Amino acid sequence: MVPSSTTLASSLALRGIDRRKFLKFCSAMVSTLALPPKYTAQVVKALSNTKRPILVWLQFQDCAGNSESMLRSSHPSVAEVVLDLLSWEYHEIIMAGAGKQAEAVLERVVRENRGKYIAVVEGAIPLADEGVYCTIGGRSAVDIAREVCSGAVATIAVGACAWDGGIVKAHPNPTGAVGLEEAVPGLKVVNLGGCPHNPANTAAVLTHYLTFNDLPALDQYNRPLFAYGRLIHDQCERRAHYDAGRYVQEWGDEGHRKGYCLYKMGCKGPQATYNCPTVRWNDATSWPVKAGHGCISCASHRFWDTRSPFYERLPDVPGFGVDVPISKIGWTLVGAVTGATVVHGVGQVIREKVRPDDTPPVDEAGAARPSSGPRHN
Ligand code: SF4
Ligand code: SF4
Repeated sequence: MVPSSTTLASSLALRGIDRRKFLKFCSAMVSTLALPPKYTAQVVKALSNTKRPILVWLQFQDCAGNSESMLRSSHPSVAEVVLDLLSWEYHEIIMAGAGKQAEAVLERVVRENRGKYIAVVEGAIPLADEGVYCTIGGRSAVDIAREVCSGAVATIAVGACAWDGGIVKAHPNPTGAVGLEEAVPGLKVVNLGGCPHNPANTAAVLTHYLTFNDLPALDQYNRPLFAYGRLIHDQCERRAHYDAGRYVQEWGDEGHRKGYCLYKMGCKGPQATYNCPTVRWNDATSWPVKAGHGCISCASHRFWDTRSPFYERLPDVPGFGVDVPISKIGWTLVGAVTGATVVHGVGQVIREKVRPDDTPPVDEAGAARPSSGPRHN
């Protein structure tokens, strides 16, 4: 393992990652952070000279999808560079040690580097019955999270489950699962929602931190604005079809083959904010809507409950349509959800409406209002 005292530049050189690839990475990070290109030189300089901070990656009630997402990323070598950007001291999936040996590493890192390391949390945390439904080395997840994250200089919650409890918290939630901020109040957390989160955003948050010695600007959910500040609908390459009233009517029809708008197939893009259309997946080649599937709004708060059914179109109430403030669409959608989801979804919206600062969720009110579109008969 390359020691954390080495700089990123020397670490990359040791791994045989050439300068061109590194510059490409820095340029991509500046673009992901929505910074003007002139910042590239500053990022290059900072990352070249930085001492690699220590990272500990905790996994609790999760499917490991966020670890997979991070480790399988390749554009441009996000995994290569990020793996070198930080000194990964603890991550159950990639570390060689196991069992007591691994736990001893975590204990040592936290003890010796208090206030210096970055913690990443993946997965929900169960609180029912004193947290017995997720224990590691005999300790409950909430105990581990409290100790490790309170000693970190910053904590990043990756994926829907770590952010707001995700599907683990969905009704009936027998383990009392919640997201990190609810399990351990008072932490300094950056939430990277998504199912899974996009690793380019993790890399961008780290790049921002290492370059400017600060975290990027966050919204009321503590999500970085560079990634969660714009409506998917306004970044979508199918938008011209939406505006022209050309829709996929059923899977595999002519409109589907021609790349028409997926609104009628349940696409939630008009009420979802995320940089998915620009950052994309699989070496930045594509994203679900481009591939032919509607957005299910995986980066929205409590999306399993508040954005389902995923294949039902957003309601087009006479006089409302989709050409209305997103907040109204959100309320109407909740009204359309059936069964237990109704109860849970309404409860969720009510909770959101009575947030202490009375601030509606960013992807309902903070997002730009979609421009006028046609009727969807
Ligand atoms: S409804 Fe979905 S597919 Fe259609 S333009 Fe909006 S985001 Fe794109
Ligand atoms: S298209 Fe929507 S649901 Fe799919 S990954 Fe992107 S943001 Fe998530």
